Amino acid sequence: MKFYSTNNKDLRVDFKDAVFNSMPQDKGLYMPESIPVLDDKFLNNLDQYTLPEIAFHVAQNLLGDDIPAVDLKAIIHDAINFYAPIVELEKNVYVLELFHGPSLAFKDFGARFMSRVMSYFLKEGEKQLDVLVATSGDTGGAVALGFLGVPNTRVTILYPKGKVSHIQELQLTTNGQNIRALEIDGTFDDCQALVKQAFTDVELNESFRLTSANSINIARLIPQTFYYFNAYAQLLRKGVNKVVFCVPSGNFGNIGAGLLAWKMGLPVVHFVAATNANDTVPAFLKTGVYEPKPSVATLSNAMDVGNPSNWVRIADLFDQDVDTLKELITGYAYTDEETLQAIEQLSKNDNYVACPHTAIAWKALKEYRQQNSPEDTAGIFLSTAHPCKFPDVFKPEIAEKIDVPSQVAELEKKESHAVSLSTDFEEFKRYLLDNA
Ligand SMILES: *Cc1c(COP(=O)(O)O)cnc(C)c1O
Repeated sequence: MKFYSTNNKDLRVDFKDAVFNSMPQDKGLYMPESIPVLDDKFLNNLDQYTLPEIAFHVAQNLLGDDIPAVDLKAIIHDAINFYAPIVELEKNVYVLELFHGPSLAFKDFGARFMSRVMSYFLKEGEKQLDVLVATSGDTGGAVALGFLGVPNTRVTILYPKGKVSHIQELQLTTNGQNIRALEIDGTFDDCQALVKQAFTDVELNESFRLTSANSINIARLIPQTFYYFNAYAQLLRKGVNKVVFCVPSGNFGNIGAGLLAWKMGLPVVHFVAATNANDTVPAFLKTGVYEPKPSVATLSNAMDVGNPSNWVRIADLFDQDVDTLKELITGYAYTDEETLQAIEQLSKNDNYVACPHTAIAWKALKEYRQQNSPEDTAGIFLSTAHPCKFPDVFKPEIAEKIDVPSQVAELEKKESHAVSLSTDFEEFKRYLLDNA
């Protein structure tokens, strides 16, 4: 499969180049030159397949012969080694739990697959790959744990001091091996600015083979399609074959992958995009005007994105046809106050504790179902992170209901190490050069 840039469809690169470049020079995003529609035999019998089998079939159709079947299978079995169950909370309302991977967030799917694909394409004797990643919390943990121990790679994570939760910080700072954490005395935007400047710095690019591991990488998008097919497979086993997916959205990679799955033939009735106060897309779906805004800080901070990068991919999937897009996707946006109410209601009514991102998706699904009474249709909202990653959000009586996974206790026992730096680029650059 070749990949074009959303800014230039005449540009064509191999999968390997698309993965290592992350972004085309023209600042578009990579998209597959054609989107294969999966065969009916597979789609009608999804309930017969396991998650790794589904993942392999989907990936092979998307990638063609870029990675030979045996190697692709090995990559998938190594990367997607945890489960993604749907849990019925009330009749026809399901939560798709995507937080059973090592970093307890759905970003594990993308980060683990991408790290293994990168490692696969790195030839023996090639220069070590240096991944630079700025994180506001979840991305860094998934990337760190995705690359941990992957040969010929090294990850440097920049995170804002005092602005990530305790568990998130432990996930960034206790890895050792080929992972190092830099605690920046600034905001997430400062971290991102440092990383961006590093990519344009001549001396650093001469010294290191730098790559970013951000959410726009096509190798992060592809594995996120797997769990949509797999969720549908689980529904089929329960005798339901109509589904609405509701996705808590920030950069719109997650829902973008769902739409890609739909394009590949997954029979989804409707998508709901749920956001916090950063409502650029829900506003667009209402007014038809796409107006990016500066991001505002909320309780669901992994979705604090005012100008979602993956939106151009979604527009591209629909060939810029806004009418079709609006028929398939509805948007809802909620305030922090509504988010807290949603957490309470979900805890009270269904005895289920959801992280703030997930709670927004639950609320949006509820609202959608009230307005469109699809009785024979199941609604699945995606749970993007384990609630224990956001302890400060919950009242004590809700917090005490959270089952803290064993990985967390393990983290507490490990030694934590981070290097503290200011927001000064020269200081950051010196650190990188001195610690080559
Ligand atoms: C990254 C993240 C999101 C947003 O996903 P996008 O693909 O950027 O839309 C939602 N919830 C959590 C917990 C996240 O970490």
